[in-house]
Formats: sequence, C-alpha cells, structure tokens
Amino acid sequence: MNQSLALFGGPKTVTHAFTPYRSMGPEEAKAAKDVVDSGVLSNYLGAWTDQFYGGPKVLEFEKMAAEYFGVKHAVTVNSWTSGLMAAVGALDIEPGDEIIVSPWTMCASATAIVNWNAIPVFADIDPVLFTLDPKSVEANITPHTRAILSVDIFGQSAPMEELNRIARRHGLKIISDTAQAPGAKYQGKFAGTLGDIGGYSLNYHKHIHTGEGGIAVTNDDLLAERLQMIRNHAEAVAGPRKRQDLYNLVGYNFRLGEIECAIGIEQLKKLSRFVDSRQKAANRLIEGLKDLEGLTLPQTIDQGTHVYYMFPLTVDTDKLQVSRQGIREALVAEGVPGLGAGYQNIHLLPMYQNKIAYGKSGYPWTGAAHRDVDYRKGICPVAERLHENTFLSLALCMYEFNERDTTAIV
Ligand SMILES: *Cc1c(COP(=O)(O)O)cnc(C)c1O
Repeated sequence: MNQSLALFGGPKTVTHAFTPYRSMGPEEAKAAKDVVDSGVLSNYLGAWTDQFYGGPKVLEFEKMAAEYFGVKHAVTVNSWTSGLMAAVGALDIEPGDEIIVSPWTMCASATAIVNWNAIPVFADIDPVLFTLDPKSVEANITPHTRAILSVDIFGQSAPMEELNRIARRHGLKIISDTAQAPGAKYQGKFAGTLGDIGGYSLNYHKHIHTGEGGIAVTNDDLLAERLQMIRNHAEAVAGPRKRQDLYNLVGYNFRLGEIECAIGIEQLKKLSRFVDSRQKAANRLIEGLKDLEGLTLPQTIDQGTHVYYMFPLTVDTDKLQVSRQGIREALVAEGVPGLGAGYQNIHLLPMYQNKIAYGKSGYPWTGAAHRDVDYRKGICPVAERLHENTFLSLALCMYEFNERDTTAIV
C-alpha cells in the first residue's frame, strides 16, 4: 500500500464502525426480572443473624464463583474498589505499616492502602509484562513492610511464584488485584487465587460485569470472615459473635445486591467464551503485526495465559524516529479507536506528591509513617518511561473486534 497517511490528507484506512463490547443478553434480563418480581432486591442485615451473609442470589453467586475459580471462599462486594479496601483491612495492617504496590495501575490499588492509614511504597514494573518486578519489590522491603499488593494488569498474572517466594522469605502477605484478568491462568491456577486474597471487578468495562460489583477470593477461612465483617458493619457484629479474632475491625456497607448477583451468575457462565473471543482477536493482531519493526508485541508470562483487557504494545521511538504521540495521532487519523498511553504513575498524583490524604497535616505520612517514603519522579523509571514515551495500547475491552476489524487495524 503506497497511499499517503490519513494524517497527511490521504484516505482513512478504517471506514466502518466497530461494534461496542456488550456482554448482556436475554439470560441476564430474565435473571434481573425474576429478582424484581420476587420483591426482595437485597436480603442483608447488618447484624449477627441468618441474613448477615446476604440473600439467596448472593450466596448462589458466591458458591458458583468459588467453584469456578477453585477457591474455598468468594465474597461479593459492591465494587472491586471496596474489595481492595476490605482486603487490606482483612490483613490487620497497623497504621504506618508499608505495603508495596505497582504504580502502573488504576488509582484504587494504592488508595485502598491509604484508606487504612498504611503507606504505599511503589516498586517498579517489568518492561514487557507490566506487572511488578520482583527485584524492585525486594529492593523496597523495609522492616515496616507487611504486604505486597500485586496487580495482574491488562489481563495476565504477575509472576506469583517469585512474589510468593519473596513474601514467604520476609513474612509478607500478598493481595492480587486481578480486576483486569478474570479467567487468566498461571501455573494451572486462576490469576487472583495465588496470593492470600485476590479478586475481580464487575464494573461495566471489565470482561464480565454487573454494572458495578466485585468478587474477593481467598483460601483462608479467617480472612474470608474478616472480609465478610468489613463488608457488613463489622463493629456492630463483633460483640454478638464473641470472636476475639474478629474484633478491631471497622465495617462498611460493601454489599452487592440480589439483582447484581443474579446477573453475575449468568455472566460467569459466559466468561470463558468472552475470554476466548478476546484471545482470538489478540492473536490475529499479533500475527498481523509481528513483522513490523520498532514494535514490541504483547508478551505472555511463562506458564500463563493472557485474557487481553488491553492489547499492550511498546514502540521503539529511537528506531522509528517518530514519537509515540506521533504514531498515536496517525492511527487516530486512520480511524483506529480505543488507543491509550497506559497509566499516569500513581506516585506522581498530587496526593502522593503533596503527601496529604486526610486533613491538612499530612496524615498518614506524618503521624503514622515510620520513615519519609520517597515518591519523587524517577523512583520507577520503567513505569514512568512507558507512560511518557513508549507505551501504546488498544482497548480490546471496548469493542467486539471481528476479523474485518482486526485486519483493518493491522
Ligand atoms: C477496574 C479496576 C479496579 C477497580 O474496580 P471497580 O470495580 O471499578 O471498583 C481496581 N484495579 C484495577 C487494576 C482495575 O482495572
């Protein structure tokens, strides 16, 4: 093809509209209507009664999710942001304790830590997998580190074998933020199930959704109980339960309703089909782009699978002599939708740069933190450079990319 680029006035390559990704069908409509017809849209009570654990659809969805993901416990929550908060709280972190987290993720991964007055410490990421770099994790461990919050970003597991080895050696817990990778596997297990607590988002943009919602998973009985307590007004329930190990918990209302759980049951039945269709689209893109120089295609972790929430690329701007922004503008001009530049690194957000989360005095960085934690630009050179210069993604999560679409994009 020797035509001029659309950016320079040539004809657009992509001339048809893409079909937005829609996972809802008549099954979900019927499931929701049945709940409405029953008249009981939520059946929780924030007290130590039979209804403490929720109504029939909550219990059914949780049983199904636990079986699906191969874990002892699944605990539904009204968002995965809530799930992350409950997970950090369940670990019994002291104010000022440090949790190591990736800067290359959605802000909630780190806010969940600050919410318990603990201190996020940002470790750098792997330049091709985009998950936490175990070496950087290890370099950031201090006597105050209590946990690692690992993010299974863009659709695949972090290197959990190495992270678990580090965690065991230093006596740390691991939370997996698997919001973007439900259905991905690592060493034969589902991503999200390889640490102490993991979980999935059910918001509208994710592989499967209930509008808003989330599922926390764990194999630990006590952690499951603590998650359930935090979900449903822990402080009001702790007394009647007479369980010392469930005291000292602040509770919230993180409960997911019956309609959402009824929809979630239908969505979970479809997850493997959705994953399969994204993997096919990604494989067509990889096949079509593999001979292009200056581009690093998505790499799947050894012994794992990728479910492609995003299709992540990096561009070699030196070799190409074009900026990432230039490439992106040219692709937009050609009609390619859903392009992104990754994440503004979390440590560079104003809350961390100013180190003020609550009030005006700098809490928890003053008053709770054990030391002056460094959030200066430069602490995560790989993640910073990716966002500033080299990362380019296609949002596979936003469209049902068929063969015609992927051919046009290639
Ligand atoms: C979507 C997402 C969340 C938050 O999930 P919600 O259900 O929207 O609250 C957290 N972490 C990551 C990596 C996400 O992509």
